[in-house]
Amino acid sequence: MMERVYIGLGSNLAEPLDQLRDALGALAQLPQSQLVNVSSFYASDPLGPPEQPRYVNAVAALDTRLMPLQLLDALQAIELNQGRQRKAERWGPRTLDLDILLFGQRLLDEPRLKVPHYHMHARPFVLYPLAELAPDLQLADGRRLSELLSACPFQGLERL
Ligand code: ATP
Ligand code: MG
Ligand code: MG
Repeated sequence: MMERVYIGLGSNLAEPLDQLRDALGALAQLPQSQLVNVSSFYASDPLGPPEQPRYVNAVAALDTRLMPLQLLDALQAIELNQGRQRKAERWGPRTLDLDILLFGQRLLDEPRLKVPHYHMHARPFVLYPLAELAPDLQLADGRRLSELLSACPFQGLERL
């Protein structure tokens, strides 16, 4: 069974636009999967430590037969391949972040994988690109994307 997955992409180091393009190329090569759609790219203010460059973000829609942890492994391999270094500091600058926002209608609460992504409701750089792809989306937990959007100002965000 194919499931529709939404993936949040972000980068603020080493040519972020190129990082996102390369990551989309890698997503298109994933086994048992098909890259279906990609949002516009957005520039956004950083979440964590303020002395870091602005981010470029986008959301991709992927249809996949991979299991959730298989997909997470594959996304982390793409991050590492593009020079992601995991540091102690939370939300510090990075070449590439690939987060699973939604995985079909699944609700996952595993040590390595929480879906829907725990903080997507508060992130304009996730919600607005996601709405380009699926404006009528309802999350597996019942929340509607339209409701999340109305509680999340288009702030610090710039469509590129
Ligand atoms: P945030 O999760 O707040 O966006 P981050 O993306 O910078 O922060 P990472 O360092 O990329 O955090 O990931 C930390 C861990 O989060 C990963 O090792 C992964 O196992 C876990 N994780 C839990 N849920 C998810 C998810 N939905 N997508 C990606 N990783 C997740
Ligand atoms: Mg993240
Ligand atoms: Mg991440």
